[in-house]
Amino acid sequence: MNPIPLLQEISRRPLCCDGAMGTQLFARGLSSGECGLVWNVSRPDDVGAIHRAYREAGCDLLTTNSFSGSRLALARHGLAERAAELNRAAAQLARAAAGDDGWVLGDVGPCGDFLEPVGEVTQDDLRAAFREQIAALLAGGADAILVETMSDPAEAVVGVEAAKSSSATVPVIVTFAFQKTASGEFRTMMGTDAGEAMRRPIAAGASVVGANCGTELSLEDYVELAKRLVAAAGKTPVIVQPNAGSPHSENGRTVYHAAPEAMAATASRLLSVGVRLIGGCCGTTPEHLAAMSRAVRSGAV
Ligand SMILES: [Zn+2]
Repeated sequence: MNPIPLLQEISRRPLCCDGAMGTQLFARGLSSGECGLVWNVSRPDDVGAIHRAYREAGCDLLTTNSFSGSRLALARHGLAERAAELNRAAAQLARAAAGDDGWVLGDVGPCGDFLEPVGEVTQDDLRAAFREQIAALLAGGADAILVETMSDPAEAVVGVEAAKSSSATVPVIVTFAFQKTASGEFRTMMGTDAGEAMRRPIAAGASVVGANCGTELSLEDYVELAKRLVAAAGKTPVIVQPNAGSPHSENGRTVYHAAPEAMAATASRLLSVGVRLIGGCCGTTPEHLAAMSRAVRSGAV
């Protein structure tokens, strides 16, 4: 574990998270439809190499390979009973690559269904599934929990509560995926605006809040979104992890084209509007993060 508390360091200087995991797994041969978490056990050297590439790129925080790794999400692959094993292994791999001066974010993604009454998942089932995943991530050495790519603030709040019931002191970071409406507002897929998306997890005890990913946002959009998040979050630090620009479709695949320099310039602008934690989402690579982490370090005050 990193002996320096993450929140203490964020109050001292801005920090850089890592970039996309999924695209790196696909580049190493993960097939679409295959569950990426299995690689934490079946191909740990590949997962570890991806973590090390981000660490060597200057990332202060590494994110575990456990997106959508709750038993509710794993059930679609017939892997519900392996939730604890796969998440613990995910945290151990990130921990080994982070070293004692890096931090590990235990990644908790959406459960993949909607809460009742829109969907069929009950709050109790969701809380139990998140708690199991989070306990395994903490057992494997995670320093903080990242509840990410949220659309529904109710699901995010259950994530915060599950983390707090696993460890009263663990910092919880919550990020939502936003899209831009025709009128220029930012809302999640569930229709939640930036203000409510920040307020509800903060009220539940989240230590850092913000945005990751998003639907067809430009780099300019992320800066505009960041201003609203910082205003809504008040004294709570804000994290933004943009995609590598807005996506394009090529041969039926979604690709992201922003160059590392463009991402670094965006990182500097995000810092200048008050963001304290920067990272990358879809399409970002160790090359992008190397440029972004340099921008974060040079922008540190
Ligand atoms: Zn993304």
